[in-house]
Amino acid sequence: MTAAVEATQKGATNLIVLEKMPITGGNTVRATGGLNAAETPYQKADGIEDSIELFVEDTMKGGKNLNDPKLVQVMAEKSADAVTWVNEIGGDLSVVGQFGGASVKRIHRPSDTSAVGPMLVNALNAKLKELDVPVFLETEAVHILLNEEGAVVGVQAATKGGEPYTISCKAVILASGGFGANSELVVKYRKDLDGFFAPPTTPVPLETESLWRKS
Ligand SMILES: Cc1cc2nc3c(=O)[nH]c(=O)nc-3n(C[C@H](O)[C@H](O)[C@H](O)COP(=O)(O)OP(=O)(O)OC[C@H]3O[C@@H](n4cnc5c(N)ncnc54)[C@H](O)[C@@H]3O)c2cc1C
Repeated sequence: MTAAVEATQKGATNLIVLEKMPITGGNTVRATGGLNAAETPYQKADGIEDSIELFVEDTMKGGKNLNDPKLVQVMAEKSADAVTWVNEIGGDLSVVGQFGGASVKRIHRPSDTSAVGPMLVNALNAKLKELDVPVFLETEAVHILLNEEGAVVGVQAATKGGEPYTISCKAVILASGGFGANSELVVKYRKDLDGFFAPPTTPVPLETESLWRKS
């Protein structure tokens, strides 16, 4: 949803968002705490001394140094812009508080003390509506379609009833969350988690990707 708003604001046209669930929100709507960000105007206004370096240090420590340092650096450097962006699209992350794992007050929350996730999803839904970007609910992206040269030319999607259809497009942005529910992929990277979690399998009533490539 963020990518769709940003792309539209930068001039992209004819965007659609596919959401496999009956409502938007994903894991984001469950988030309650807030958004960690360093060197924001809200911290400065409250006299909080923070820095990108300290945010990176705290995050690496919290992740037992298993985090990818380059990604942590990007996250920390872009964090203040993320807070500004949310507020610019009609969200509210204007109150700074103290949270676990942070050396200073760094977590940005809505001023009415409500949970951060629903505020964010409501703001994104409203912005997409304002920008006329359609959101197809209960529509699961199943395959990314490639042409002979390997370039992306569309998405094969399935509705709740399993009805397949094809969306032709020039570009696809994947923003489908993590892969914690895909035990096969989890085990590929963490063999010790084999059998730890077995989600119900979703039937995929669709042809193979190679068949779709041919068509
Ligand atoms: C209980 C809880 C509390 C949290 N609290 C915080 C917090 O306070 N602060 C914080 O920063 N983070 C918090 N997090 C983490 C944060 O919520 C996630 O990191 C973040 O929401 C991930 O956003 P996302 O857009 O990547 O994924 P999501 O919000 O999960 O969005 C992915 C979307 O893609 C859809 N989708 C997936 N596959 C397909 C498909 N094939 N076709 C179509 N649609 C598909 C999903 O249905 C979903 O709507 C919390 C997480 C949880 C679970």
